[in-house]
Amino acid sequence: MMYVVMIASECAPVSKVGGLADVVDGLSRELANKGHKVEVILPYYDCMNLSTIGAAINDFQNNSVQVSVQCNGKQLLSTVHSAVIHDNECFFIKPHSQERYFDRGIYYGQRDDDERFTVFCLSAVEFLSETGRRPDVIHCHDWQSALVPVLLKTKHRHSALSQTKTCYTIHNIWHQGKTSEKVLKMADLEQVVTGKDSIVDDSDHAYINLMKGGITYSDIITTVSPKYASETMTNQMGEGMQKTLSKYSDKYTGIINGVDYDSWSPATDKLIPFNYDIDSIEDKYKNKEHMRKKMSMKQDFKPIVSVVGRLDMQKGVHLIRHALLYSLNNGMQFVLLGSSPDKEIDIYFHHLKHYLKDNHDCHIHLSHDEELAHLIYAGADMILIPSLFEPCGLTQMIAMRYGTVPVVRNTGGLSDTVFDAEVSVKPVTDRNGFSFDDFSYDAVSLALKRASMTWHEKPHTFREIMLTGMRTDYSWGASADKYLSLYNRISGKW
Ligand code: ADP
Repeated sequence: MMYVVMIASECAPVSKVGGLADVVDGLSRELANKGHKVEVILPYYDCMNLSTIGAAINDFQNNSVQVSVQCNGKQLLSTVHSAVIHDNECFFIKPHSQERYFDRGIYYGQRDDDERFTVFCLSAVEFLSETGRRPDVIHCHDWQSALVPVLLKTKHRHSALSQTKTCYTIHNIWHQGKTSEKVLKMADLEQVVTGKDSIVDDSDHAYINLMKGGITYSDIITTVSPKYASETMTNQMGEGMQKTLSKYSDKYTGIINGVDYDSWSPATDKLIPFNYDIDSIEDKYKNKEHMRKKMSMKQDFKPIVSVVGRLDMQKGVHLIRHALLYSLNNGMQFVLLGSSPDKEIDIYFHHLKHYLKDNHDCHIHLSHDEELAHLIYAGADMILIPSLFEPCGLTQMIAMRYGTVPVVRNTGGLSDTVFDAEVSVKPVTDRNGFSFDDFSYDAVSLALKRASMTWHEKPHTFREIMLTGMRTDYSWGASADKYLSLYNRISGKW
C-alpha cells in the first residue's frame, strides 16, 4: 500500500476554479479505490463550497490541530481543520494573521498570491512533520504548492520527512508563480537554496520562479499528456520553462487525465433521454432524433458535427466558425455549444447565430449548459476540436465514450488519444477518429470531408471507429495506475 499526500490549491467539489480541482479529486478517489491511503491538504478559503461536505460539516468545525511556522522571522499560527470528502481525509489550513490570507472571498488573483501560497506550503509541511505523518509520496500541483518540494529537499532534508519522495504536476504552465526574493526571505530559504539557478526565472533573473523550484527539487515531474510534455520542452510552447524542463527531461513525463465515468457514461447518464452502450448503440440515434427535435433541426440523412467548449483562441475559434460554414455547405449539420468570456468573440458568435437563425441544419447555443452538453455528446456523430494547443483535453475522451467520433488537431493530449482512421501508425483496431496537423482552414475542411465521406460511404467503417472509441478506457483507473507506477519508482516500494 502506498501512502500519498496531495498538496494543492483546489479540490472538487469543495474548492473548484478549474480542471486542477477535478484532477486532485479524481486521482485521489481512484488511488483510494485501489486500496492506497490518500490525504489531501488544501487552503481553508472562506469562499469554499462547504455545503458539498454534507454530513461531515460538524466534524469539520470541531476537529482541528494547531501548527506554528516561522514566517518573516515571526511565529505564524494556523489551524488545520479536517473533513472527509469522497472517503479521503482532507486537511484545510487556516492561517491566523492580520493579512487574512484565505479570507478574501476569492481563490486567486490577489496581489499577494505568492505570499498566501508560501504560507500555505510552509504550514502544510509543518503539519505533516508535527503530526508524525510520513507519507511515501507527496504529490504537489502547479505553482501554488511548488514550494513544498523545495522545503523538503532543503530545510527538511535531515528531518523525519527526508525519506518522503515528491511528485510535481504541471497543469497550467502559463502561471508559474513569478515573484521576488521576498518569498525566499519569508520562508527562511535565502541561505539554504544554494545555487539560485534552481529557482531563479530562466528569462528574467530578477525574478524567483516557484514552478521552476518545484521542477528542480521534485523527484518526478509530470504534465497532463505525453505529447504536451514534449511540446513544453520547445521554444514555441514552453512559456519560458523549456530550458529547465529539458534539463530535467529524465524525470519529466506526461500522464493523460482520467474522465469521471460516474458522470460520463451513456449507459447510466441521467441527463440523456435514451441510455445505450456498445451493445445497444442503435439507441444513440434516438438521442440524435431527440436532439434535433429539441433544437428545431431537420430530421435528415446527414451526420451532425458538434463543438462543445470554451470559445477562445486556444480552442481555434476561427477554425470553428469556418468548420460550421463548411459543414452546412457540404451535407452536414452542425451543433455548437460554447461560451466566451471575450466580448468580441461572444458578439461575433451571437451575430452568426442570428444570421443562421432560419437554417434548420444548425443550432448555436452560447452559454454554459451541462445538460445540453450531455445530450450533444449522446446525439452528435462527430465532435470537432481544432485547438491551437491542448495540454490534455477532456471533450474528445468524453465524446468517444458516447460513440461520437472526434475530429481533432494533432496537438497535446488530442494527439495522444485520437488516432486517425486512415493515416496512423496505430493498428486499424486502435483507430478512433480523424486528425489533422495544420492550424488552417484547409486542414479542417479536409478532415471533416474525410469523416463525412466515411459516414456516408463506409458506414461499417464509421461504426467500427465509434466502437473503438467506446471500448477504450479513459477512466481514472488507467491514469491512476500510471501515477502509481511513478510513485513506486521513486519510493522504491514495489
Ligand atoms: P478546458 O480547456 O476548457 O478545460 P477540456 O476539454 O479539458 O477543456 O474540458 C472542458 C469541459 O467543460 C468538458 O467537460 C466540457 O463538456 C465542458 N464544457 C465546455 N464548455 C461547455 C459549455 N458551454 N456547456 C457545458 N459544458 C461545457
